Formats: sequence, C-alpha cells, structure tokens
Amino acid sequence: MSDRRPLVAGNWKMHKTGAEATEYAAALLAELGDGPVEAEVAVCPPFTALQPAAAAFAGSQVAVLAQAVHEADAGAHTGEISAGMIAATGAAGTLVGHSERRAAGETDAQVAVRVRAAIDAGLSVILCVGESLDQREAGETEAWLTAQLRAALTPFEGVHEERLSIAYEPIWAIGTGRTATPQIAQETVAHVRAVSAGLIDGERVRILYGGSVKPDNASELMGQKDIDGVLVGGASLDAASFAAIVRAA
Ligand code: PEP
Repeated sequence: MSDRRPLVAGNWKMHKTGAEATEYAAALLAELGDGPVEAEVAVCPPFTALQPAAAAFAGSQVAVLAQAVHEADAGAHTGEISAGMIAATGAAGTLVGHSERRAAGETDAQVAVRVRAAIDAGLSVILCVGESLDQREAGETEAWLTAQLRAALTPFEGVHEERLSIAYEPIWAIGTGRTATPQIAQETVAHVRAVSAGLIDGERVRILYGGSVKPDNASELMGQKDIDGVLVGGASLDAASFAAIVRAA
C-alpha cells in the first residue's frame, strides 16, 4: 500500500431496494462506529436505491456512487440515466465500464465519453478494466488492458484528475470465488499504473483490485505496493462483511 488513501467500494449490482439500502446504511454505520475510518468508503446501489442510500449515508464517511452513467445530458435514451440525474440524487460518483456492462454491449468509445461526462458533471469515477480468462491464457492481458486504458483515458491526457480512480477487475475472478493471487494482482495493477502514467498522473491515481475480494483475502491484496483499495461485489452485500473489508484497509 502506498501513501495514496485507500478506497474500498462495494458494488451491489442488481440487489437491494431503497428500503433495504436504508437498513444496510444503519447496519454499516453501526459497524464502522464513530471514529475516523482509514479508507475512503463507497457503496454503489442500483439506480432506484441511489436517493435513499444517499440520504441514509448523508454526513457520514460513506459515499454513494451509481453503477453506470449515460454520456448525454438528456434525450431519447430509454432506460438510461445521465450524470446530472445521478448528482441530483445526492450520489457523489459512478462506476464506468464494469465488465458486466461491457458484456451487455458497452463499448470502449462509450466508456471514454461516459467517464468524461461524469467528471464534467462533478462526479467521481471508478473506471473498470479487466481481461477474460481466454485473454489471460493467451498472454494477451497487458495488450488488452493497455487498449482499454488508452481508449478511456485519452480524453484526459496530461491532466491529473483527482476524482478518477481505476479498478482492475479480471473477469475470471468476478463472482467466481477465484481471486487473483496477490502476486498476479500486483503485477497487473503495476502494468495498469505504468500505462496510466503515460496518459494521466499514474503515480497519483488510485488503482483498485476487484474480483472475489472477501474479508479473509482483502488485507493481503491491499498490502501490495500498487494496490490502493478494492472494488467488492458479493461480499459488500452484507454490512458486517463489507465493514470487515473496510477495516482490512
Ligand atoms: C464486481 O462486480 O465488481 C466484483 C468484484 O464482484 P465480486 O466481488 O462478487 O467478484
């Protein structure tokens, strides 16, 4: 872990209603207690729970982020949500380019304009990148990540954007229980940092690892030199297990 402040974010995916988000917030805040928390903490509820979650976490150390954003301000985009709409719920940011969104058709070009639109609207962004198992086994991981990062970060070339973080999430480790070893995670995050350094300020940007992070592996992963936190799916759904991961930072 570097002197960059760690970020622990929980992606709820398509789980929890507004009422459940409010209940979760009470449980998580009780778990975290009143003292300062070492890590920056965020949760990413579905769109319908953003407003109740933002209200329930208001004034606390836990930020609320959306899971996706559309690049347009408004218009004929059925089922989509703009950055301004996300900001109006009280949420502070959004994930962009999660592999489950990319698998549903989100392209590199869309990821790039969505990161830009979210940052321009004053939101923070966690940009997600990651390779498939076939790509890893074919030795294509670095080239693939380089291409994803170039596509998404070129609009920021030369700029250090405080509100931008990157999550390296190998697709083969998401929801599979198959975590990357700390060594693989470190090596790959170091590559992500080196590529980012050519585009934005790679020494300052926070790079997270995501993929089957649990309370019992979080601390070793976050102990790696280039890993500045974690993006957690399944294990973030339970407030006690997410709090244990926050404490591991
Ligand atoms: C994710 O969806 O971003 C993720 C990392 O999921 P899980 O922790 O369940 O593998």
